[in-house]
Amino acid sequence: MSRYLDYNATAPLRDEVRDAMLQAMALPGNPSSVHADGRAARALVDEARDSVAALFGVAASQVVFTGSGTEANALALAGPRPGFRLVSAIEHPSVLRPAAEGEAPFGLCPVDGDGVLDLGAMERLLHELAGRAGSGARPGLVSLMAANNETGVLQPVAEAARLAGRAGALFHCDAVQAAGRLALDFEGLGIDMLSLSAHKLGGPKGVGALILRSGLDLAPLISGGGQERGLRAGTENVAGIAGFGVAARLAREALAGGREMPRLAALRDRMEAGLRALTPGAVMIGAAAPRLANTACVALPGRPAETMVIALDLAGISVSSGSACSSGKVASSHVLEAMGLPPEVTGSALRLSLGHESCDADIDALLAAWPSAGGQGRGSRASAMAASG
Ligand code: PLP
Repeated sequence: MSRYLDYNATAPLRDEVRDAMLQAMALPGNPSSVHADGRAARALVDEARDSVAALFGVAASQVVFTGSGTEANALALAGPRPGFRLVSAIEHPSVLRPAAEGEAPFGLCPVDGDGVLDLGAMERLLHELAGRAGSGARPGLVSLMAANNETGVLQPVAEAARLAGRAGALFHCDAVQAAGRLALDFEGLGIDMLSLSAHKLGGPKGVGALILRSGLDLAPLISGGGQERGLRAGTENVAGIAGFGVAARLAREALAGGREMPRLAALRDRMEAGLRALTPGAVMIGAAAPRLANTACVALPGRPAETMVIALDLAGISVSSGSACSSGKVASSHVLEAMGLPPEVTGSALRLSLGHESCDADIDALLAAWPSAGGQGRGSRASAMAASG
């Protein structure tokens, strides 16, 4: 049996979600049709909207369903037609790329060595970008993720939103990794937009949502029919949205129960302690900062991450490397580089991420496979010290 330790890439579909999706797929109606079949499909979409809204304490009318977290981010970055865009250096590419597109001035805000946004730098950059945009420009936009996908490190969202508000800028939060793993109070955080994605919560792939502050004026990316209050044209993915609703409800119940995140934190801590014992030079990236309970980012300096990922895969264990492979070339992680980590650390970083099906046996299997996968005694204390400094 394979051991899945890659929940930040995607979580396995929950059984209740699959059941709800199969039932939804059996419905013939289009949610825009007025007849009973249409109304039955509409009822599923409405129920899911209520459930996603409840995860963030907002009204259903504030939820816009999209085709992915990526699309929610793209809508947030382009929809307000901002006078400038300021994003953190550790954002997901689905924020970084659209933020840099177009004519509007663009800024990248640095993070510290633990991977936490530098609020002082953000304040300075806000001032500078507002000056470059000019006095008649539309309000600027700041985008900061709630938790990083590679390290799990939490970001100071409420503080950054306050700074943005003081500078007259809108604030968007990419909560794709944090949603369901952290209680997020949309109004309390003082934010204007928040993105999430169903498949990180145990829902289906290919469905996301953007939560909007009431009254916020946005231009759609896709226009046509009036679906999603004119913000996202196209017949709704009823089965996907229904599954998303169930995944959001289960996530809210798990957070309210108060046991799932401590369970995952205990598993993660046991995993990190075990890996440290096997490889004393291992570097636990981001471990000094507040992090998501489910995420560990572990580097074995000098040991290429891709080799470890393949060796663990051969042992039936699925993990990710911190590096991204595109066009056949392995690129170093922009997140780890922004943290100022040296190449021998960035090139050897593995991401191990847990979720609802993770259990002690997964950690046991990883620790058993680790030495022969190349983790035995690799890395040195000296490089670990250098990396954490
Ligand atoms: N934002 C973050 C932080 C992510 O980790 C991801 C996916 O990994 C996305 C956005 C994109 O979400 P989706 O896969 O739904 O497009």
